[in-house]
This record gives sequence, structure tokens and C-alpha cells, in this order.
Amino acid sequence: MWTVCVLLLCAVHVRAEHFLHEAENPLGYCQGEHECHSHDDKTANHRTYSQTSNVTINTSHSLERFKVSCQKLIEAFPVDEVDGNYVRTVKNCVFSRSLPTPLKAPVTLAAVSKSVIEDILDLDIGVTQTDAFLQYISGAQLIPGSIPLAHRYGGHQFGYWSGQLGDGRAHLLGQYTNRKGEIWELQIKGSGKTPYSRAGDGRAVVRSSVREFLCSEAMQALGIATSRATSLVVSDESVWRDQFYDGNVRKERGAVVVRLARSWFRIGSLEVLTRGGELDLLRKLLNFIIENNFPAIATEDPDKYLVFYSTVVKETAHLIAQWMAVGFAHGVCNTDNFSLLSITIDYGPFGFLESYDPNFVPNTSDDEGRYSIGAQANVGLFNMEKLLESLHPVLTPSQQQQAAVVLKGYAGLYQMRFHQLFKAKLGLLGEEEEDGNLIAFLLKMMEDTGSDFTMTFRQLSEASVQQLHRGGFTQETWALHDLSSHKQFSDWSRMYLLRLGRQEGDDDEDRRQWMKSVNPMYVLRNWMAESATRKAETNDFSEVVLLYDVLGNPFLAQDAAEENGYAARPPLWARRLKVSCSS
Ligand code: AMP
Ligand code: MG
Repeated sequence: MWTVCVLLLCAVHVRAEHFLHEAENPLGYCQGEHECHSHDDKTANHRTYSQTSNVTINTSHSLERFKVSCQKLIEAFPVDEVDGNYVRTVKNCVFSRSLPTPLKAPVTLAAVSKSVIEDILDLDIGVTQTDAFLQYISGAQLIPGSIPLAHRYGGHQFGYWSGQLGDGRAHLLGQYTNRKGEIWELQIKGSGKTPYSRAGDGRAVVRSSVREFLCSEAMQALGIATSRATSLVVSDESVWRDQFYDGNVRKERGAVVVRLARSWFRIGSLEVLTRGGELDLLRKLLNFIIENNFPAIATEDPDKYLVFYSTVVKETAHLIAQWMAVGFAHGVCNTDNFSLLSITIDYGPFGFLESYDPNFVPNTSDDEGRYSIGAQANVGLFNMEKLLESLHPVLTPSQQQQAAVVLKGYAGLYQMRFHQLFKAKLGLLGEEEEDGNLIAFLLKMMEDTGSDFTMTFRQLSEASVQQLHRGGFTQETWALHDLSSHKQFSDWSRMYLLRLGRQEGDDDEDRRQWMKSVNPMYVLRNWMAESATRKAETNDFSEVVLLYDVLGNPFLAQDAAEENGYAARPPLWARRLKVSCSS
């Protein structure tokens, strides 16, 4: 009776027996069950600074030598011949030159990511106290070497081709090559109009910027591929938004986030070229991406576009399975928001699942629930179809056929990864026939009882076998208390304990440690982001900083987090919270 449920979260309209399985390492980058999450030490000691500080830092990692470069991108692609930040249709190029529009009013540095500053940008954290740093990351002054660019892309939004979209409020400041030899592309978001701003003002508000800053870094700490965030700056510049599209226009404060990725190219970057018949440019862009971001693909390989496609299909399936394993719903899975590097990008009205519900829709503007959490695997498939359409002109007929087979393999890759991740979440070693049922049975009970996704798994990780045998969960283990109200909980618990009992040589303490290392205690719940935002609006950034610190170690119990109830039953007011596309 439980077999039907395993696909609740992964219903993909392709039959399992048709899936393509890769012979070796089908799961790609994660080989072991318990090694899929990174645990960067993020004991950040950063603070918030007002723009008035004027400290000179004399370190080997000072800002004076900090430089970016746009040369590689400008040399690789034709740049828009027209200049100026006015809205227009752009053809035959990948970038337009576009200068950020500095925020008018005083700006304040709200938060920085210590790990980005130190580990990616090779800077001493002390530089974040300087005026020069604030000038750079607020868009007031250009970083040496920067020739700001806005990227031209298109996309399918909510299932339909939208034509030209592009960076409407973000500027690519340049590439930074760090001491490890990694190239990172720095973008500033909320930095004013570009040729791609359409009807927008080019700005971003505090609430969306706080969410993007915090969630980028939180996802990294959860071990999920993501763009990163360097800094959050808020200003007094007025931005007008109709937050819930109900005619209630309100003045909000503008904010900017400096974010980074190894590449910001999206499915829509290719789509706009194919749709426009710009096939030489399409090849050029593909060759550039393969050469710079897919080192395993030989540039002279006649099948390189096919191998590229197959890699993106696999990595996207894995990424979405990882989202599911932490209950993350992106909210707007349009093709312009799907990275060709299969990293999570463009944080908007995302949400972390609380009461378990496969129909959870984080974005209140998504009336039809197209991007519900349970639909994400299917949406990934749709996006991979669109990617294939954009590659069609550069594939031979035989390669097109092979690519179609690759696409059919997407569902199998997703299901395999999903299964592996959820097995790890339950601390199951090896493979037994009934494992899928055990997972599905649990998810069905969670759905029936509305138990909290994050804390159910976390509290299962913390409970000893004896405690699980005893049952009788109290409010202290509130998620298990909810779950155990299910009339079949004792059946499931018996199955689970028998399964754990068959794990040879498995010490219960070890199992709990493993489970705690894959089941986070803290995720960025909407109410937490909302509470931090309300304070940030009044220039109190303490909660943003606290959340950055706590979510940097999501697997570790922390006093400050407990004091703030971050692992407790969400407050009642959280139920009324809504998040929309408006940002
Ligand atoms: P998003 O839904 O944030 O992925 O944005 C979709 C498209 O709208 C992208 O091309 C964005 O750059 C653009 N966009 C979103 N908000 C604004 C804004 N306030 N001003 C200009 N362009 C925007
Ligand atoms: Mg976007």
C-alpha cells in the first residue's frame, strides 16, 4: 500500500524501465552516502558597519591590490553596439555595457559573508570596515578593472516563451581569479536600470536582498550547489513596490547584494540565441562555457555538445533531488533562473517546507502551483527539454537522437539520487528491497499529520533506538510528537527499527551522528527571514548577522539559535506570512 507514495515527490512522466543509467558513478560528484554535505567552518566574526568608518587596513589581502577583469568576456563575445541604460531589444551579442546607477541616499553595510571574503576573494575580513569596500559593493565606485556588463538572455516563464529578459537589475562587475586559480564572476544586484530592465526600476528591496544574501550562504552550508553572496548593503533610496499585486503600493528601502558564481549563464542564455537564429553566437557561447566550466569535456570532441547536455541533465537532476532533501522550493523555476552549471541561482520567493505537503507553493503569485515543491522534478524535466530545443541546431541528427535518450534518463537519475539522499536521511546503510517503502511510508505519514519536514528528520536523528522503541514523544520532540499521532506510526517505527537492527556493525551512536550530519537543525524559514528583515528595515542588522552565523552551521545545535526558537515549532504568526514575486 505504500509503494505508490515513494513517487509523491518525484513523479516524472517517464517510465522507469526506459531510463538511461550510467555505468559508473551514476550519481556524479557525491560517491558516499554521508559525504554529500560540506561543513565549512563558518565561525564568522563579522559585524555590521556604517559607511562612516574610514579604516586603513595593511594586510597582504588588502583592497588596494584587488582587481577584477572583464577582458575575457569582452574578447570572447560581441558586445552590444548601442550604449546607454535605456530599455531596448538587443541582438547579436551576449552582453551590453551598462554602468550601475549608484544608490542616492546614504548606504550602510548590513552584513558580509566571511567565507566569501576570505576563502573566495582572498581578502582580509578587516577590509570590510573600509569606505573603499563599501563604495565598491554598493555600486558607487567601480572595482579596478571592472567594465560592468548586463547579460542578454531570454527564457520560458511559467511554461511560455517570454522573449528577451536579461539582467534587468544586475551588473556583472568582472571576473576575479583567486589564489586557488578559480575564476568567480562578481555581480551586483539592485544596481539600477540596464537595457534589459523592461518595465522595472532596476532596484531590489531589503526583504528580497536579505533573503538572497542569507539563503545563498545557507544553501552552501547545506552542501547544495549555489551562487554565493558577498555582502548586503541597504540604502535610504525609496523603491516603490506593490508587494502582493493588490493595488497597495508601498515605499520600501532599496538594497544591493554582491553575489558570485563561477558562471551566471542560464538556459535562457542559449535559448535567446537559438530563437533569434544567431547560431554562430550560440556555438561561440557553448564553446566558451564548455572550455571554461566543463573541464572534463575535450574542446575538440565532436560530441562535446552532447556530452555537455548529458552533464547538465545529470547535475540538474541531482540538484533538484538535493533541494527536495532539505525541503527547498525555489519558487520560480523558469528557464532564465536555471543555471547551466546546475547551481541554485536567482533566489526569489523560495521557501523551506515546514508542515510536510508535496503541494507546498512558496510563491503566492503562483496561482496554479506550477512551481510547487512536488512539481520541481517535473519542471526540471521541462527545462531540460527546453535546453535540448536550444541545442538542436548544433547537434547532428544522430546526436539529437542520443540527446533524446539522455533526456529520458533524467527521471531515473533524479529518482536514484532522491532515494540515496533520503536513505541517508534515515541513516540506512546498504540497500534493501523495502527501503523505498520505508521512505514513502514516512512521507505519507508526515503528509497526513502535517509534521515539520526539517525537524522530523532531525529529531529522528537525535532519538536513540531505545527512545524510538519507547515512543511517547513529548513537546520537546514536537515534530515526532505530531508524527506519532498517526495511527500507523508504530507499524512504521517497527519496520524502521528492524531495518536499523539489520545493519551489521552499525553502532547507534554512529547512526545518530551520520544522520545529524545530513539532517539540518536550522533552515531559513520564512518567519526567520521576515523577522530579520523587519529589524533590517530599521537599520538593526543583528538578526541578519545572527542568521548568517547560525545557518552557516546548520547541522550543529547552537545556543543563540535555540534562544531564538529557530528549531522550535514555528510561531503562529508565521502561518499568515506570504511571499510573492515582488522584489
Ligand atoms: P526574476 O523573476 O527576478 O528572475 O526576473 C525576471 C526578469 O525580470 C529578469 O530579466 C530580471 O532582471 C527582470 N527584473 C526583475 N525585477 C526587476 C526590476 N526591479 N527592474 C528591472 N528588471 C527586473
Ligand atoms: Mg531571474
